[in-house]
Amino acid sequence: MLDLLVRHKFLEELVMSTLIGLGVYSFCAMVVIAAELRQRSDMSIYATRNALNDLAYVVFYQCSIYNIVVLPLFAFLAPRLHFARAGLLLRMPPIAGFLVCWLIFDFLNYWMHRLQHAVRPLWAFHSVHHTQTRLTFLTANRIHVLEQLYVGMLMIIPAFLLGMPQPRWLPILMVQVFSETMQHSRLTWTFGPLRRLLVSPAFHSMHHSTDAREYNGNYGRVFSLWDALFGTFVHADEPARSQGVEGMVVPETLIAQFIHPFRVLAGARASEHLNSEHLNSGEVHVS
Ligand SMILES: [Zn+2]
Ligand SMILES: [Zn+2]
Repeated sequence: MLDLLVRHKFLEELVMSTLIGLGVYSFCAMVVIAAELRQRSDMSIYATRNALNDLAYVVFYQCSIYNIVVLPLFAFLAPRLHFARAGLLLRMPPIAGFLVCWLIFDFLNYWMHRLQHAVRPLWAFHSVHHTQTRLTFLTANRIHVLEQLYVGMLMIIPAFLLGMPQPRWLPILMVQVFSETMQHSRLTWTFGPLRRLLVSPAFHSMHHSTDAREYNGNYGRVFSLWDALFGTFVHADEPARSQGVEGMVVPETLIAQFIHPFRVLAGARASEHLNSEHLNSGEVHVS
């Protein structure tokens, strides 16, 4: 194992990915906080237990506690997936390759997100993200560790097929992190005429709504374009009035929320917690 870590420069990669990740995240967070102050949002929400728990997720992911487990796993898998290295985008001009790559990954993320709301075991894990009843920009990090892991693993195959060299991932990472941070913030932006192209805070807030007329839609990650194309676009002029999953109460601690899906899947208090009403019934209230 030690040999594996040395050969794949584990520590070097861990330090680099932590510094880059923290730098990108801190910059995005500062921009969002500045915009919230400018909008005179109620900042007392950051002193609540809910926000402090989201901060624990931020530390878990942004300070690379998660990466300590995941990087050796990726180092183990990467050589075994050599067969998938097609490098399709390497034959395209860099800018075109970058845009195509971005669209493909956002498209895949849209469908993955829809599946997470339609398939019961996936919802058990994804529902952790929806347990937050008081969204702040920190909530973007409230992702169950297994959800983060399986989505990351599934995305390795298209990443190898497309063959994007690592430096080109940085702009995608920056836009992705900024978009997700901003979407969960207290900002009331709707993006006006761009609302059918890009995910705004009001748009994503609808996805976190407790109202079935609102939460069965708006699955897009950076682009709302997919929701407009595939009939899941829910119009938003302002953020949803209430957020969370009705009837689902999970303690506001990281550990309790990591254990929660296993308890649900094991059948413990399933009827109380899985809240199948929130699973996508296929009924979408399109604007
Ligand atoms: Zn969701
Ligand atoms: Zn969200």
